[in-house]
Amino acid sequence: MHDFQLLIDGARVPGDNGAFAVINPASGAPFAQCPAASLEQLNSAVDAARRAFASWRASSTEQRRSALHKAADDMEREAEALARLIVQEQGKPLALAMSEVMGGVAWTRYNADLEIPVELIEDTPRQRVELQRKPLGVVASITPWNWPFMIAVWHIIPALRAGNCVVSKPSSLTPLSTLRLVEILDRHLPRGVINIVTGEQGFGSAITTHPGIDKIVFTGSTPTGQSVMRGAASNLKRLTLELGGNDAAIVLPGSDIAGMVEDVFAAAFLNMGQTCAALKRLYVHESQYEEMLAALVERAGREVVGDGLEADVSFGPVQNAEQLALVAELVEDARRIGARVLCGGERLAREGYFYPPTIVADVTDGDRLVDEEQFGPVLPVIVYGAVEDVLARANASSMGLGGSVWGPDEQAASALAARLESGVAWVNCHAQIQPNTPFGGCKMSGFGVEFGLEGLLEFTTQQLLFVRKGNKS
Ligand code: NAD
Repeated sequence: MHDFQLLIDGARVPGDNGAFAVINPASGAPFAQCPAASLEQLNSAVDAARRAFASWRASSTEQRRSALHKAADDMEREAEALARLIVQEQGKPLALAMSEVMGGVAWTRYNADLEIPVELIEDTPRQRVELQRKPLGVVASITPWNWPFMIAVWHIIPALRAGNCVVSKPSSLTPLSTLRLVEILDRHLPRGVINIVTGEQGFGSAITTHPGIDKIVFTGSTPTGQSVMRGAASNLKRLTLELGGNDAAIVLPGSDIAGMVEDVFAAAFLNMGQTCAALKRLYVHESQYEEMLAALVERAGREVVGDGLEADVSFGPVQNAEQLALVAELVEDARRIGARVLCGGERLAREGYFYPPTIVADVTDGDRLVDEEQFGPVLPVIVYGAVEDVLARANASSMGLGGSVWGPDEQAASALAARLESGVAWVNCHAQIQPNTPFGGCKMSGFGVEFGLEGLLEFTTQQLLFVRKGNKS
C-alpha cells in the first residue's frame, strides 16, 4: 500500500498527531491510514510557503508553465493509479474517477497556458498608466469530499500559475488523492511552493484564522463557508467561496421528454448526486409530468449499483454514513407527507453506503426534499402550471449556484434562463463546466469565480503603475 505522508517544505513527513483511518464507502471499512498533522505542522507549512514565496513570486511565466505541464504529464501517466485511489476513498465508479483525473489534467494545462494580462489604461506624452496583477502570497485550499482530486486542482493550479505558494487541506474523508496530487506537483516545483497538511476536526478553522495566510479558496457547505468568512476577517484574507447549491431545472411545455431524459438524469445523478451544481429540483409542466416521471424511472432502472472498482458498475455508494443518513431522512420525510417514491427509496441491505437512484413525485416547495440540498442520489420532481409562477418558485431559494431551462424554443428558454437568480444559467443542459468558462454562485452559494481568466485573476491583487513622463526632478 502507498505510504501516505504530509508534504512540508519539500519533505515527506509523518503526522505529529499520528494517523486516522480513511474509510472505503463501498465497504464501510477502513482501507488506509492518513497522517494527522499537528497545529505546529500547519505553522511550519505556512512558514515554508512564505519563505518560498520570496522567490516563486519572481519566477518567470515560462518556469511556471513548464512546471505545471510536467505535473500534468505525471498525472496523465499515473492516471489509472490515481483513479483507483479516488474510487477507494470517494466511491465513484472507475470510469468517472478516470474522467476526474483527466479533467484535472485538462484544467492544469489550460491554466498553465493562460496569460496574465497587463492592462494599459493610458499611454500619452504626459503619462503612462497600467494595471498590473501580482500574486497574493500564501493561499490555503480547503476542499470537500465529492470531487477531491479535481477540486484540489481547481484551487491549487491557478494559485501556483499566478505566482502564489500553497498550503492544501483536503477533506479528512477523502485526503489521499490530494496527497498524491501534491507529491506530483512538488516534484516539479521549488521546495515549499506547495505543501499539504491533513487532519480531522478543528484543523480547517485553524487555517481560517491563521495570520500567515493571505487567501483562502474554499469549496464546501454554506455553514462552513460562513465560518471561514468569519475567521478570515482577522487579517482580511481574500476569499473565494464555492458553497452549496439547490439548482432548479424548468422543463417548458412541448419538450421532447424522450430526447432529453438522458441528459436530465445525468445532470441530477452525476457522481451519485454529490455534485454542487447537480440538478436538484426538477420542475415539469403538468402536461408532461407523468411522461417525465416514467422516463426517469425507466432510466434509473438501467444503473448498476455496486463497488466502483467492479466491472460494469455504473453507480457507486454515497461517500459517507452521515450523508447517507441525511438522504434517507429526506426521502422518509417526503414519504410521510404523501409523496410517491417511484424507484429506489431504501438503503441497500449490504455492506457499504449504497442508496440506489431514487425518483420522488408529488412533492412541492416547502417540503424538505425540495427546499434542502439533498446532495445525494434522490431527485424530487415537481409539477407546475404557469411559467411565471415556476420561475418565482425556482428563484425562491436562498441558494444561487446554477439553474437551467429546457424547451424546444431556444430563444424562449434563454430568455427565461436569464431571469434565474444563479451564477450559471444553462439552456437544454445542466452542470456543464469547462476550463475556460467562469463558474461561481450568487446569494448563499458564495462569491468569486473559478475557471477562465476571471478565475485565475482571483489569485492576484491589482497594482496600478502610474508613471509621469518627462521627469523634471
Ligand atoms: P464541508 O463544508 O463539511 O467541508 C468542506 C471542507 O471544509 C472540508 O475540508 C472540511 O474538513 C473543512 N472544514 C470543516 N469545518 C471547517 C471550519 N470550521 N473551517 C474551515 N474548514 C472547515 O463540506 P462537504 O460536506 O465536504 O462538501 C459538501 C458541500 O460542498 C455541499 O454543500 C456542496 O454543495 C458543496 N460543494 C460546493 C461546490 C461548489 O463549487 N460550489 C463544489 C463541491 C461541493
